Amino acid sequence: MTTIDTDVCVVGGGPAGLTLALLLARSGVRVAVVERTASLERPYRGEILQPGGQALLAELGVLDGARARGCHEHSRFRFVDRGRVLLDIDYRTLPAPFNCLLSVPQRHLLAELQAACGRYEVTLLAGHKVSDLVRDGARITGVLATGPDGVRQIRARCVVGADGRYSKTRRLAGIDNDRLDVFDHDVLWFRIPDREGPGSPEVRIHRGGGNPVLEYRSFPDQVQLGWTLPHHGYRALAARGVDHVRAELTRAIPQYGDLIDKHVTALSDLTLLDVFAATARSWTADGLVLIGDAAHTHSPIGAQGINLAVQDAVALHPVLVDALRSGNTDAAALDRFAAPRRPDIDRVLRTQVLQSRAMLAGNRVLDAVRPRVARLLAHTPVYRKVLRHIAYGNPAIRLRTDLFVR
Ligand SMILES: Cc1cc2nc3c(=O)[nH]c(=O)nc-3n(C[C@H](O)[C@H](O)[C@H](O)COP(=O)(O)OP(=O)(O)OC[C@H]3O[C@@H](n4cnc5c(N)ncnc54)[C@H](O)[C@@H]3O)c2cc1C
Repeated sequence: MTTIDTDVCVVGGGPAGLTLALLLARSGVRVAVVERTASLERPYRGEILQPGGQALLAELGVLDGARARGCHEHSRFRFVDRGRVLLDIDYRTLPAPFNCLLSVPQRHLLAELQAACGRYEVTLLAGHKVSDLVRDGARITGVLATGPDGVRQIRARCVVGADGRYSKTRRLAGIDNDRLDVFDHDVLWFRIPDREGPGSPEVRIHRGGGNPVLEYRSFPDQVQLGWTLPHHGYRALAARGVDHVRAELTRAIPQYGDLIDKHVTALSDLTLLDVFAATARSWTADGLVLIGDAAHTHSPIGAQGINLAVQDAVALHPVLVDALRSGNTDAAALDRFAAPRRPDIDRVLRTQVLQSRAMLAGNRVLDAVRPRVARLLAHTPVYRKVLRHIAYGNPAIRLRTDLFVR
Protein backbone atom coordinates (compact mmCIF):
# COMPACT_ATOMS: atom_id res chain seq x y z
CA MET A 1 0.00 0.00 0.00
CA THR A 2 1.43 3.41 -0.97
CA THR A 3 1.38 6.13 1.68
CA ILE A 4 1.19 9.88 1.13
CA ASP A 5 2.16 12.25 3.93
CA THR A 6 0.58 15.66 3.93
CA ASP A 7 -0.58 18.44 6.26
CA VAL A 8 -4.27 18.36 5.32
CA CYS A 9 -6.27 15.67 3.56
CA VAL A 10 -9.51 17.01 2.11
CA VAL A 11 -12.12 14.34 1.35
CA GLY A 12 -14.32 15.53 -1.53
CA GLY A 13 -13.45 17.79 -4.44
CA GLY A 14 -16.71 19.75 -4.54
CA PRO A 15 -17.02 23.53 -4.06
CA ALA A 16 -16.19 23.35 -0.34
CA GLY A 17 -13.22 20.98 -0.61
CA LEU A 18 -11.52 22.59 -3.61
CA THR A 19 -11.97 26.14 -2.30
CA LEU A 20 -10.38 25.15 1.00
CA ALA A 21 -7.57 23.25 -0.74
CA LEU A 22 -6.73 26.32 -2.82
CA LEU A 23 -6.77 28.66 0.18
CA LEU A 24 -4.53 26.36 2.21
CA ALA A 25 -2.08 25.70 -0.63
CA ARG A 26 -1.68 29.44 -1.19
CA SER A 27 -0.90 29.74 2.53
CA GLY A 28 1.98 27.28 2.22
CA VAL A 29 0.10 24.22 3.56
CA ARG A 30 0.62 20.82 1.87
CA VAL A 31 -2.81 19.54 0.77
CA ALA A 32 -4.14 16.34 -0.80
CA VAL A 33 -7.72 16.20 -2.12
CA VAL A 34 -9.33 12.78 -2.46
CA GLU A 35 -12.24 12.84 -4.92
CA ARG A 36 -14.38 9.82 -5.72
CA THR A 37 -15.14 10.75 -9.33
CA ALA A 38 -12.46 10.71 -12.02
CA SER A 39 -14.21 13.38 -14.11
CA LEU A 40 -15.83 16.72 -13.40
CA GLU A 41 -19.29 15.35 -14.02
CA ARG A 42 -21.28 14.96 -10.83
CA PRO A 43 -24.82 13.72 -10.31
CA TYR A 44 -27.12 16.72 -10.86
CA ARG A 45 -26.04 19.54 -8.51
CA GLY A 46 -26.93 23.14 -7.88
CA GLU A 47 -25.93 25.74 -10.40
CA ILE A 48 -27.21 29.01 -9.00
CA LEU A 49 -24.51 31.03 -7.32
CA GLN A 50 -25.48 33.94 -5.07
CA PRO A 51 -23.52 37.27 -5.06
CA GLY A 52 -21.67 36.47 -1.80
CA GLY A 53 -20.13 33.29 -3.24
CA GLN A 54 -19.38 35.07 -6.53
CA ALA A 55 -17.44 37.81 -4.71
CA LEU A 56 -15.30 35.33 -2.74
CA LEU A 57 -14.56 33.19 -5.79
CA ALA A 58 -13.71 36.31 -7.80
CA GLU A 59 -11.23 37.44 -5.15
CA LEU A 60 -9.73 33.97 -5.23
CA GLY A 61 -9.23 34.37 -9.00
CA VAL A 62 -11.53 31.59 -10.22
CA LEU A 63 -14.83 33.27 -11.06
CA ASP A 64 -13.81 34.87 -14.37
CA GLY A 65 -12.54 31.56 -15.71
CA ALA A 66 -15.70 29.71 -14.61
CA ARG A 67 -17.83 32.40 -16.26
CA ALA A 68 -15.76 32.24 -19.45
CA ARG A 69 -16.53 28.51 -19.73
CA GLY A 70 -20.20 29.47 -19.97
CA CYS A 71 -22.94 30.74 -17.68
CA HIS A 72 -26.13 32.77 -17.63
CA GLU A 73 -26.79 35.84 -15.52
CA HIS A 74 -30.25 36.10 -13.98
CA SER A 75 -31.17 39.59 -12.91
CA ARG A 76 -34.19 38.76 -10.76
CA PHE A 77 -36.06 36.18 -8.76
CA ARG A 78 -39.82 36.16 -9.31
CA PHE A 79 -42.57 34.34 -7.51
CA VAL A 80 -45.52 33.99 -9.89
CA ASP A 81 -48.88 32.85 -8.53
CA ARG A 82 -51.48 31.96 -11.16
CA GLY A 83 -49.93 34.42 -13.60
CA ARG A 84 -49.58 37.27 -11.04
CA VAL A 85 -46.10 38.32 -9.96
CA LEU A 86 -46.32 38.38 -6.15
CA LEU A 87 -42.65 38.86 -5.41
CA ASP A 88 -40.09 40.46 -7.67
CA ILE A 89 -36.59 40.55 -6.24
CA ASP A 90 -34.34 42.64 -8.42
CA TYR A 91 -30.70 41.67 -7.92
CA ARG A 92 -29.63 44.66 -10.02
CA THR A 93 -30.38 46.82 -6.96
CA LEU A 94 -27.35 45.24 -5.24
CA PRO A 95 -23.90 46.77 -5.71
CA ALA A 96 -22.17 45.81 -9.00
CA PRO A 97 -20.45 43.74 -10.22
CA PHE A 98 -21.99 40.88 -8.19
CA ASN A 99 -25.59 41.90 -8.72
CA CYS A 100 -27.09 38.84 -10.36
CA LEU A 101 -27.87 35.21 -9.71
CA LEU A 102 -25.31 33.31 -11.72
CA SER A 103 -26.33 30.02 -13.31
CA VAL A 104 -23.01 28.29 -13.86
CA PRO A 105 -22.68 24.52 -14.40
CA GLN A 106 -20.85 23.06 -11.43
CA ARG A 107 -18.29 21.43 -13.73
CA HIS A 108 -17.23 24.90 -14.92
CA LEU A 109 -16.63 26.06 -11.37
CA LEU A 110 -14.88 22.84 -10.38
CA ALA A 111 -12.67 22.91 -13.50
CA GLU A 112 -11.42 26.38 -12.58
CA LEU A 113 -10.88 25.46 -8.96
CA GLN A 114 -8.99 22.31 -9.98
CA ALA A 115 -6.81 24.26 -12.42
CA ALA A 116 -5.96 26.81 -9.71
CA CYS A 117 -5.23 24.02 -7.21
CA GLY A 118 -2.87 22.51 -9.79
CA ARG A 119 -0.94 25.79 -10.02
CA TYR A 120 -0.35 25.71 -6.25
CA GLU A 121 0.69 22.05 -6.15
CA VAL A 122 -2.34 20.53 -4.47
CA THR A 123 -2.19 16.74 -4.82
CA LEU A 124 -5.48 15.71 -6.44
CA LEU A 125 -6.38 12.04 -6.18
CA ALA A 126 -9.32 11.93 -8.56
CA GLY A 127 -11.09 8.59 -8.95
CA HIS A 128 -10.25 7.66 -5.35
CA LYS A 129 -12.97 6.80 -2.87
CA VAL A 130 -12.38 7.14 0.85
CA SER A 131 -13.36 3.91 2.54
CA ASP A 132 -11.85 4.21 6.02
CA LEU A 133 -10.20 6.55 8.49
CA VAL A 134 -6.74 6.02 9.96
CA ARG A 135 -6.59 6.54 13.73
CA ASP A 136 -4.00 6.89 16.40
CA GLY A 137 -6.03 6.14 19.52
CA ALA A 138 -9.04 8.45 19.34
CA ARG A 139 -7.28 10.93 17.03
CA ILE A 140 -7.95 10.81 13.29
CA THR A 141 -4.62 10.83 11.43
CA GLY A 142 -5.58 10.07 7.84
CA VAL A 143 -7.76 8.13 5.42
CA LEU A 144 -7.65 5.03 3.27
CA ALA A 145 -8.71 5.62 -0.32
CA THR A 146 -9.33 3.08 -3.06
CA GLY A 147 -8.42 4.04 -6.62
CA PRO A 148 -7.48 2.37 -9.90
CA ASP A 149 -4.14 1.22 -8.45
CA GLY A 150 -5.56 -0.18 -5.24
CA VAL A 151 -5.68 1.23 -1.72
CA ARG A 152 -3.60 4.24 -0.66
CA GLN A 153 -3.06 5.60 2.81
CA ILE A 154 -3.06 9.37 3.14
CA ARG A 155 -1.64 10.44 6.49
CA ALA A 156 -2.44 14.01 7.54
CA ARG A 157 -2.27 16.33 10.52
CA CYS A 158 -5.90 17.16 9.84
CA VAL A 159 -8.62 15.49 7.74
CA VAL A 160 -11.39 17.68 6.32
CA GLY A 161 -14.68 15.96 5.48
CA ALA A 162 -16.06 17.89 2.49
CA ASP A 163 -17.77 14.90 0.91
CA GLY A 164 -21.33 16.12 0.68
CA ARG A 165 -24.73 15.45 2.17
CA TYR A 166 -24.23 11.68 2.61
CA SER A 167 -20.65 12.16 3.93
CA LYS A 168 -18.76 8.91 4.38
CA THR A 169 -16.15 10.73 6.51
CA ARG A 170 -18.86 11.85 8.93
CA ARG A 171 -20.22 8.31 9.21
CA LEU A 172 -16.77 6.75 9.63
CA ALA A 173 -16.04 9.24 12.42
CA GLY A 174 -19.24 8.10 14.15
CA ILE A 175 -20.80 11.57 14.10
CA ASP A 176 -24.58 11.58 14.09
CA ASN A 177 -26.39 13.65 11.50
CA ASP A 178 -29.56 15.29 12.78
CA ARG A 179 -31.97 15.14 9.88
CA LEU A 180 -34.81 17.65 10.04
CA ASP A 181 -37.82 16.92 7.88
CA VAL A 182 -38.98 20.52 8.04
CA PHE A 183 -39.76 20.80 4.34
CA ASP A 184 -43.04 19.53 2.95
CA HIS A 185 -41.70 18.94 -0.54
CA ASP A 186 -39.23 16.93 -2.56
CA VAL A 187 -38.20 18.08 -6.04
CA LEU A 188 -38.18 16.28 -9.39
CA TRP A 189 -35.64 17.95 -11.69
CA PHE A 190 -35.65 17.79 -15.47
CA ARG A 191 -34.52 19.80 -18.46
CA ILE A 192 -36.18 20.89 -21.67
CA PRO A 193 -34.89 23.01 -24.56
CA ASP A 194 -35.08 26.76 -23.99
CA ARG A 195 -37.21 28.32 -26.68
CA GLU A 196 -37.41 31.80 -25.12
CA GLY A 197 -33.68 32.42 -25.64
CA PRO A 198 -31.47 34.72 -23.61
CA GLY A 199 -34.29 37.23 -23.13
CA SER A 200 -35.63 35.47 -20.02
CA PRO A 201 -32.98 36.15 -17.38
CA GLU A 202 -34.81 35.28 -14.19
CA VAL A 203 -35.20 32.52 -11.67
CA ARG A 204 -38.87 31.81 -11.06
CA ILE A 205 -41.20 29.85 -8.87
CA HIS A 206 -44.58 29.28 -10.53
CA ARG A 207 -47.70 28.38 -8.67
CA GLY A 208 -50.36 27.36 -11.13
CA GLY A 209 -52.82 24.53 -11.56
CA GLY A 210 -50.64 21.89 -9.94
CA ASN A 211 -47.65 21.71 -7.63
CA PRO A 212 -45.26 24.71 -7.64
CA VAL A 213 -42.35 24.61 -10.09
CA LEU A 214 -38.86 26.17 -9.90
CA GLU A 215 -37.47 27.39 -13.20
CA TYR A 216 -34.27 28.93 -14.59
CA ARG A 217 -32.13 28.95 -17.75
CA SER A 218 -29.31 26.49 -17.61
CA PHE A 219 -26.17 26.83 -19.73
CA PRO A 220 -26.04 26.55 -22.67
CA ASP A 221 -29.59 26.41 -23.98
CA GLN A 222 -31.92 24.55 -21.65
CA VAL A 223 -34.54 25.32 -19.07
CA GLN A 224 -34.03 23.62 -15.73
CA LEU A 225 -37.32 22.79 -14.04
CA GLY A 226 -37.86 21.54 -10.51
CA TRP A 227 -41.36 20.21 -9.94
CA THR A 228 -42.20 20.05 -6.25
CA LEU A 229 -44.13 17.08 -4.95
CA PRO A 230 -45.22 16.13 -1.44
CA HIS A 231 -42.32 14.95 0.73
CA HIS A 232 -41.83 11.18 0.26
CA GLY A 233 -44.58 11.22 -2.39
CA TYR A 234 -42.48 10.02 -5.33
CA ARG A 235 -43.05 6.30 -4.97
CA ALA A 236 -46.84 6.63 -5.13
CA LEU A 237 -46.55 9.03 -8.03
CA ALA A 238 -44.15 6.83 -10.00
CA ALA A 239 -46.43 3.83 -9.48
CA ARG A 240 -49.04 5.59 -11.62
CA GLY A 241 -46.62 5.68 -14.55
CA VAL A 242 -44.94 8.25 -16.75
CA ASP A 243 -48.18 9.30 -18.55
CA HIS A 244 -49.67 10.38 -15.22
CA VAL A 245 -46.47 12.23 -14.27
CA ARG A 246 -46.44 14.00 -17.65
CA ALA A 247 -50.08 15.05 -17.20
CA GLU A 248 -49.35 16.44 -13.73
CA LEU A 249 -46.29 18.32 -14.99
CA THR A 250 -48.34 19.82 -17.81
CA ARG A 251 -51.06 20.86 -15.35
CA ALA A 252 -48.41 22.71 -13.31
CA ILE A 253 -46.71 24.42 -16.29
CA PRO A 254 -49.07 24.22 -19.29
CA GLN A 255 -46.86 26.62 -21.27
CA TYR A 256 -44.32 23.79 -21.61
CA GLY A 257 -46.84 21.00 -22.30
CA ASP A 258 -45.55 20.21 -25.81
CA LEU A 259 -41.91 20.11 -24.64
CA ILE A 260 -42.81 17.93 -21.66
CA ASP A 261 -44.54 15.48 -24.04
CA LYS A 262 -41.46 15.35 -26.21
CA HIS A 263 -38.70 15.29 -23.59
CA VAL A 264 -40.16 13.48 -20.59
CA THR A 265 -40.59 10.06 -22.12
CA ALA A 266 -39.52 7.91 -19.15
CA LEU A 267 -39.29 8.31 -15.38
CA SER A 268 -35.52 8.13 -15.82
CA ASP A 269 -35.69 11.59 -17.46
CA LEU A 270 -36.48 12.96 -13.99
CA THR A 271 -34.05 13.24 -11.07
CA LEU A 272 -35.53 13.05 -7.59
CA LEU A 273 -34.07 15.28 -4.87
CA ASP A 274 -35.02 14.18 -1.38
CA VAL A 275 -35.35 17.61 0.26
CA PHE A 276 -34.29 17.75 3.88
CA ALA A 277 -32.18 19.83 6.18
CA ALA A 278 -29.58 18.33 8.44
CA THR A 279 -26.72 19.34 10.66
CA ALA A 280 -24.00 17.06 11.93
CA ARG A 281 -24.19 16.91 15.71
CA SER A 282 -20.51 17.81 15.89
CA TRP A 283 -18.40 19.35 13.13
CA THR A 284 -15.08 18.53 14.72
CA ALA A 285 -13.14 15.71 16.35
CA ASP A 286 -9.43 15.49 17.18
CA GLY A 287 -7.76 15.73 13.75
CA LEU A 288 -11.05 16.14 11.84
CA VAL A 289 -13.35 18.93 10.73
CA LEU A 290 -16.49 18.81 8.55
CA ILE A 291 -17.51 21.56 6.12
CA GLY A 292 -20.13 22.23 3.43
CA ASP A 293 -22.96 19.76 2.93
CA ALA A 294 -21.11 17.19 5.08
CA ALA A 295 -21.63 19.48 8.09
CA HIS A 296 -25.02 20.95 7.14
CA THR A 297 -27.44 20.14 4.34
CA HIS A 298 -30.06 22.49 2.91
CA SER A 299 -33.10 22.66 0.70
CA PRO A 300 -32.42 23.96 -2.83
CA ILE A 301 -34.87 26.80 -2.14
CA GLY A 302 -33.07 30.12 -2.04
CA ALA A 303 -29.95 28.58 -3.68
CA GLN A 304 -27.77 28.61 -0.57
CA GLY A 305 -25.67 25.41 -0.68
CA ILE A 306 -22.74 26.55 -2.84
CA ASN A 307 -22.54 29.94 -1.11
CA LEU A 308 -22.41 28.26 2.27
CA ALA A 309 -19.86 25.67 1.12
CA VAL A 310 -17.51 28.37 -0.20
CA GLN A 311 -18.01 30.51 2.91
CA ASP A 312 -17.28 27.54 5.17
CA ALA A 313 -13.95 27.07 3.41
CA VAL A 314 -13.13 30.76 3.74
CA ALA A 315 -14.11 30.77 7.42
CA LEU A 316 -12.12 27.61 8.22
CA HIS A 317 -8.98 28.73 6.36
CA PRO A 318 -7.45 31.04 9.05
CA VAL A 319 -8.46 28.71 11.88
CA LEU A 320 -6.80 25.73 10.23
CA VAL A 321 -3.66 27.64 9.26
CA ASP A 322 -3.35 28.78 12.87
CA ALA A 323 -4.01 25.26 14.21
CA LEU A 324 -1.34 23.77 11.94
CA ARG A 325 1.20 26.47 12.82
CA SER A 326 0.65 25.95 16.54
CA GLY A 327 0.66 22.16 16.15
CA ASN A 328 -2.78 21.75 17.71
CA THR A 329 -5.52 20.27 15.55
CA ASP A 330 -7.61 19.02 18.46
CA ALA A 331 -11.39 19.39 18.29
CA ALA A 332 -11.24 22.36 20.67
CA ALA A 333 -8.90 24.27 18.33
CA LEU A 334 -11.04 23.48 15.27
CA ASP A 335 -14.17 24.56 17.14
CA ARG A 336 -12.97 28.13 16.62
CA PHE A 337 -14.41 27.61 13.14
CA ALA A 338 -17.50 25.61 14.10
CA ALA A 339 -18.78 27.62 17.08
CA PRO A 340 -19.24 30.99 15.31
CA ARG A 341 -20.40 29.34 12.06
CA ARG A 342 -23.31 27.36 13.51
CA PRO A 343 -25.56 30.38 14.15
CA ASP A 344 -25.14 31.44 10.48
CA ILE A 345 -26.30 28.03 9.37
CA ASP A 346 -29.26 27.99 11.78
CA ARG A 347 -30.33 31.37 10.43
CA VAL A 348 -30.24 30.14 6.82
CA LEU A 349 -32.30 27.14 7.79
CA ARG A 350 -34.94 29.30 9.47
CA THR A 351 -35.15 31.54 6.40
CA GLN A 352 -35.47 28.55 4.08
CA VAL A 353 -38.30 27.08 6.14
CA LEU A 354 -40.14 30.42 5.91
CA GLN A 355 -39.49 30.68 2.16
CA SER A 356 -40.69 27.16 1.62
CA ARG A 357 -43.89 27.64 3.63
CA ALA A 358 -44.64 31.01 2.03
CA MET A 359 -44.09 29.95 -1.57
CA LEU A 360 -44.60 26.22 -1.83
CA ALA A 361 -47.21 25.28 0.79
CA GLY A 362 -50.82 25.29 -0.32
CA ASN A 363 -54.01 25.66 1.66
CA ARG A 364 -57.05 27.91 1.32
CA VAL A 365 -56.03 30.38 4.06
CA LEU A 366 -52.46 30.73 2.79
CA ASP A 367 -53.65 31.08 -0.81
CA ALA A 368 -55.95 33.92 0.25
CA VAL A 369 -53.42 35.92 2.31
CA ARG A 370 -50.35 35.27 0.17
CA PRO A 371 -50.78 38.22 -2.27
CA ARG A 372 -51.33 40.72 0.57
CA VAL A 373 -48.36 39.47 2.60
CA ALA A 374 -46.12 39.56 -0.49
CA ARG A 375 -47.21 43.14 -1.30
CA LEU A 376 -46.55 44.22 2.28
CA LEU A 377 -43.14 42.55 2.39
CA ALA A 378 -42.05 44.24 -0.85
CA HIS A 379 -42.63 47.67 0.69
CA THR A 380 -40.88 47.30 4.03
CA PRO A 381 -37.20 47.42 5.08
CA VAL A 382 -37.53 43.70 5.92
CA TYR A 383 -37.40 43.03 2.18
CA ARG A 384 -33.92 44.51 1.77
CA LYS A 385 -32.70 42.79 4.92
CA VAL A 386 -33.93 39.40 3.71
CA LEU A 387 -32.48 40.00 0.23
CA ARG A 388 -29.06 40.88 1.68
CA HIS A 389 -29.14 37.81 3.91
CA ILE A 390 -30.06 35.49 1.01
CA ALA A 391 -27.55 37.10 -1.36
CA TYR A 392 -24.54 37.39 0.94
CA GLY A 393 -24.99 35.07 3.92
CA ASN A 394 -22.66 36.34 6.63
CA PRO A 395 -20.89 39.36 5.07
CA ALA A 396 -18.25 39.31 7.83
CA ILE A 397 -16.69 36.19 6.25
CA ARG A 398 -13.81 37.63 4.23
CA LEU A 399 -10.91 36.10 2.39
CA ARG A 400 -7.69 36.23 4.50
CA THR A 401 -5.26 37.00 1.68
CA ASP A 402 -2.78 38.22 4.31
CA LEU A 403 -2.13 34.52 5.06
CA PHE A 404 -1.08 33.79 1.47
CA VAL A 405 2.60 33.15 0.94
CA ARG A 406 2.22 32.63 -2.84
C1 LIG B 1 -30.47 18.75 -7.15
C2 LIG B 1 -29.75 19.82 -6.37
C3 LIG B 1 -29.96 21.17 -6.68
C4 LIG B 1 -29.28 22.17 -5.96
N1 LIG B 1 -29.44 23.48 -6.31
C5 LIG B 1 -28.62 24.42 -5.75
C6 LIG B 1 -28.50 25.74 -6.27
O1 LIG B 1 -29.13 26.09 -7.28
N2 LIG B 1 -27.66 26.60 -5.64
C7 LIG B 1 -26.92 26.25 -4.56
O2 LIG B 1 -26.19 27.09 -4.02
N3 LIG B 1 -26.97 24.99 -4.08
C8 LIG B 1 -27.76 24.07 -4.66
N4 LIG B 1 -27.72 22.78 -4.23
C9 LIG B 1 -26.81 22.42 -3.14
C10 LIG B 1 -25.35 22.40 -3.62
O3 LIG B 1 -25.18 21.61 -4.78
C11 LIG B 1 -24.50 21.86 -2.49
O4 LIG B 1 -24.85 22.54 -1.29
C12 LIG B 1 -23.02 22.09 -2.75
O5 LIG B 1 -22.61 21.41 -3.92
C13 LIG B 1 -22.24 21.60 -1.54
O6 LIG B 1 -20.88 21.59 -1.81
P1 LIG B 1 -19.93 20.58 -1.05
O7 LIG B 1 -18.58 20.78 -1.64
O8 LIG B 1 -20.12 20.69 0.40
O9 LIG B 1 -20.48 19.11 -1.41
P2 LIG B 1 -20.66 18.40 -2.80
O10 LIG B 1 -20.86 19.39 -3.89
O11 LIG B 1 -21.70 17.36 -2.60
O12 LIG B 1 -19.24 17.71 -3.06
C14 LIG B 1 -18.86 16.57 -2.34
C15 LIG B 1 -17.80 15.84 -3.14
O13 LIG B 1 -17.35 14.72 -2.39
C16 LIG B 1 -17.18 13.61 -3.25
N5 LIG B 1 -17.27 12.39 -2.42
C17 LIG B 1 -18.37 11.88 -1.83
N6 LIG B 1 -18.06 10.77 -1.14
C18 LIG B 1 -16.73 10.57 -1.30
C19 LIG B 1 -15.82 9.58 -0.82
N7 LIG B 1 -16.21 8.53 -0.06
N8 LIG B 1 -14.51 9.68 -1.20
C20 LIG B 1 -14.08 10.72 -1.97
N9 LIG B 1 -14.92 11.67 -2.45
C21 LIG B 1 -16.22 11.60 -2.11
C22 LIG B 1 -18.29 13.77 -4.27
O14 LIG B 1 -18.01 13.08 -5.49
C23 LIG B 1 -18.32 15.28 -4.46
O15 LIG B 1 -17.48 15.72 -5.51
C24 LIG B 1 -28.43 21.79 -4.91
C25 LIG B 1 -28.24 20.44 -4.58
C26 LIG B 1 -28.88 19.46 -5.32
C27 LIG B 1 -28.62 18.01 -4.97
